Amino acid sequence: MASPALLMRVVASAYSVAEKAATIVRNVMAAGDLGIVEKTGANDLQTKADRLVQMSICASLARKFPKVTIIGEEELPSDEVTEELIEDGHCEEILKKTCPAQYTGIKEEELVIWVDPLDGTKEYTEGLLDHVTVLIGIAYRGKAIAGVINQPYYNYEAGAGAVLGRTIWGVLGMGAFGFQLTESPAGKHIVVTTRSHSSTLVNDCISALNPDSVIRVGGAGNKIIQLIEGKASAYVFASPGCKKWDTCAPEAILHAVGGKITDIHGNSFQYNKDVKHMNSAGVLAALRNYDYYASRIPSNVKQSLVP
Ligand code: AMP
Ligand code: MG
Ligand code: MG
Repeated sequence: MASPALLMRVVASAYSVAEKAATIVRNVMAAGDLGIVEKTGANDLQTKADRLVQMSICASLARKFPKVTIIGEEELPSDEVTEELIEDGHCEEILKKTCPAQYTGIKEEELVIWVDPLDGTKEYTEGLLDHVTVLIGIAYRGKAIAGVINQPYYNYEAGAGAVLGRTIWGVLGMGAFGFQLTESPAGKHIVVTTRSHSSTLVNDCISALNPDSVIRVGGAGNKIIQLIEGKASAYVFASPGCKKWDTCAPEAILHAVGGKITDIHGNSFQYNKDVKHMNSAGVLAALRNYDYYASRIPSNVKQSLVP
């Protein structure tokens, strides 16, 4: 049999690298010293887990795929990666799947990998552990085409005996795996949004949608999980705070199951290596009925968020 397509090898490796990352996230918390650093302020934090996981993911993937562009959230010295942070395994089950025909010819230098080593850091520091995810998004020609979301503390409130943590992955044209796709309650508008980065604009935008209920949780990865598992019907964030590493993996997985994510104007996100990092015009996502929500974003909100 021919060797698996590059894209499938990258996804299979990213799966194992994300599982190693989850172990690091849990170990840092268990050791008790988070080593919190403020980046731009008290709501923009970095912990030892963010640092170690980014080093682990970026170094592990770079070693296997040296020509791929890898962009991580954290600014770190590049020479401190110890061998124990390297993961060289891969998921066999993913390697066995057939790569969608449109992606079989992709070369290493054509891929851009966006890494959020720990999404939901604020919540991690506050012990809201199931909000946390590790995000590895894979882009080709500016488009998010594959992604891995690991949730290190999935099941942590289910008690002893429950398997802690899970890995969700997906490829456009193939689907997404590692969870049960579930529709949100019919006829209900349930909006999921930020917990720790609210603003007047964020709240005004949600009010204008007149939802039946609002879920406030941390993490972009976690919010996409709320959509694909039917807990919420739309993710609405009228703020410039989200970055490309927050949306790349979630976008690939949401799109792989037929959902849609854009900025608040309806523009799709671009993931070329030279693109600016901020999603300045916010985030709007839904598994179903995206158009309903898009048509109800107020014009003053749109005017306040320039792409
Ligand atoms: P949230 O929904 O608040 O958890 O935000 C989703 C992602 O965007 C997380 O990675 C946040 O760190 C990031 N983010 C959102 N708003 C801001 C902000 N005002 N400053 C820094 N990061 C932000
Ligand atoms: Mg993040
Ligand atoms: Mg992060």
